[in-house]
Amino acid sequence: MTIRIVLAGGGHAHLAVLADWIGAPPEGTERWLVTSHRQTAYSGMLPGWIAGDYPAEALTIDLEPLARLAGARLVIADVVGLDPEQHLLDLSTGVRLGFDLLSLATGGESDVSHLAALGDRLLPVRPVLPFMARWEAFVAGRQGRTLTRVAVVGGGAAGVELALAAERSLRRQIGGTTKVILVAPRDALLAGHSEAVRRRAGDVLRARDIALHEGHAAGAPDGLMLPDGTMLACDAVIAATGSRPSDWITDTGLAVREGGFVAVGSDLRSVSHPDIFAAGDIVSRSDRRVERSGVHAVKAGPVIAANLKAALAGTPMHDYIPRRRTLYLLATGDRRAILSWGKLTAGGHLVWRLKDWIDRRFVERYAGFGQFRS
Ligand SMILES: Cc1cc2nc3c(=O)[nH]c(=O)nc-3n(C[C@H](O)[C@H](O)[C@H](O)COP(=O)(O)OP(=O)(O)OC[C@H]3O[C@@H](n4cnc5c(N)ncnc54)[C@H](O)[C@@H]3O)c2cc1C
Repeated sequence: MTIRIVLAGGGHAHLAVLADWIGAPPEGTERWLVTSHRQTAYSGMLPGWIAGDYPAEALTIDLEPLARLAGARLVIADVVGLDPEQHLLDLSTGVRLGFDLLSLATGGESDVSHLAALGDRLLPVRPVLPFMARWEAFVAGRQGRTLTRVAVVGGGAAGVELALAAERSLRRQIGGTTKVILVAPRDALLAGHSEAVRRRAGDVLRARDIALHEGHAAGAPDGLMLPDGTMLACDAVIAATGSRPSDWITDTGLAVREGGFVAVGSDLRSVSHPDIFAAGDIVSRSDRRVERSGVHAVKAGPVIAANLKAALAGTPMHDYIPRRRTLYLLATGDRRAILSWGKLTAGGHLVWRLKDWIDRRFVERYAGFGQFRS
């Protein structure tokens, strides 16, 4: 009997599963990859693309050769529903796709409910590929304007990196006066990073004339409204607000936790439906808190690959045990970066070189499969 395995989402978490199948395809299986776009973008290099350090090709991975070599049928569609009891996925094409084993890693969406009034001025950073197209169009549309004002909402690493990258991009690509601001809830700037990292980032933002506005901003037709009534006029607002799961997940009957994230155990199996695995930004661990970041999504990939095989063989599951400290390298948009590793921090061009090397190596590993194309 052939077992059908479906991967939903072709992003950070599932790349390692496809690579595993290329090396050692699970026997007796029919494999599928359902994902929104044929390409996937490596988010760690997105600020570098905005800043002009990378062309789009440097951070995009073509999933077609990867899927083909992995023996997986590639379906370009959105998953819009899931019936975990009947083992059926609903796709945006109207197809209902059955599965025996499923792994969900469809990533998160930017939480923009409080910014919706901005209309076309709102540029949610997730999903990344549509954001890249909209940012390019925005920059092209501002050529020759006397004043361009961009706000980035979100005080996490992505928000800080995007503000610094946008400042460099606008300064280099648009004439006239350009202004970038960063808006984050009070005390939210790089929460979870050390005080030294926050200080270092604050110094860089100040040196680049990027004002930090603290408070929960609400969207208005012309810009952002702060809680004290201050109106910040903006031509574009990049939403780098936290990741939230897509609405369809909450309607599936899968066990979810805090905010609708799929509840998984240390083996990345749904706590309610053992034939369904999940990883990356859509999950919440039932046993411990794990940050939603690319680092953890990527490291979860080999565990998903191993556990799909363990589920087939009926052997014990593997656990994803995150390291106590995670290395983060924050690009500052000027071919420099800030290193954050527990209490340790450093900054400068060498840190950027390290980040550049790690990031390029990651993309090249997976994009390299494209060279086998006939
Ligand atoms: C600007 C920015 C910079 C970042 N920098 C870093 C960093 O330096 N380090 C770090 O650790 N983390 C970083 N992150 C976070 C990181 O991008 C995420 O944690 C990571 O992408 C999560 O991986 P994932 O596999 O869950 O989802 P993703 O990598 O987002 O992949 C999701 C995939 O699913 C597809 N998809 C989406 N919806 C559906 C659907 N309904 N049906 C089918 N397919 C679907 C998408 O097309 C995509 O292929 C950054 C995030 C941003 C926004």
